[in-house]
Amino acid sequence: MIKAAQAPDEEPRVPVDLRQAAAQLRKVAAEAAHCERCPLYRDATQTVFGEGPIGALIMLVGEQPGDQEDRAGRPFVGPAGRVLDEGLAAAGLDRAATYVTNAVKHFKHEERGKRRLHKHPDRGEVQACRWWLDRELALVRPKLVVALGAIAAREILQRPVVLAKTRGKVFPFADRHRALATMHPSAILRMRDEASRRQAFARFVDDLREAVRIAKAGK
Ligand code: SF4
Repeated sequence: MIKAAQAPDEEPRVPVDLRQAAAQLRKVAAEAAHCERCPLYRDATQTVFGEGPIGALIMLVGEQPGDQEDRAGRPFVGPAGRVLDEGLAAAGLDRAATYVTNAVKHFKHEERGKRRLHKHPDRGEVQACRWWLDRELALVRPKLVVALGAIAAREILQRPVVLAKTRGKVFPFADRHRALATMHPSAILRMRDEASRRQAFARFVDDLREAVRIAKAGK
């Protein structure tokens, strides 16, 4: 059978339902930009919504944006984002093929002089923001969710999580999704010495490799 040649400047064909989902996701992100479902919007610069393609192989979910993400309006662009990028590259996964987001979309912090120090969101704030994560999950429909850190893992699985026991294993949640937990890249940066950081990073890459294997096997 002869296939019609694609003109050089022709747009690649994207299935209509993917385009519709992408349009819906943009709409949801625009709505989230005005969210006041919990008090965290008051002290943050802006909502940091997720980014990445519909149908991503893997959705990476962190806890919340940090100082640089809050200023840039994009997830994982600060120091932890650089560790994540290095981990993904070492695991053979292009970040552009993943959807990257956070369980909480506003930066919770306290001011100490000129510095803005990260504060963990409380349970109510995380639950309020689940509204947006559920919409991202429903529209992106990743093959596997990777929870970065215990807070993201607890929020996704909706139960207490001990990372040392949970990491690297796959858990079903919300009917048809599956999640695997690993450490948050910022935890690697906080390790006390270079040897510990190297060891933790190697394990982080192992978890990401396992996530890629599982996501591809579940296609
Ligand atoms: S943290 Fe989430 S729920 Fe709270 S105001 Fe921001 S977007 Fe809304």
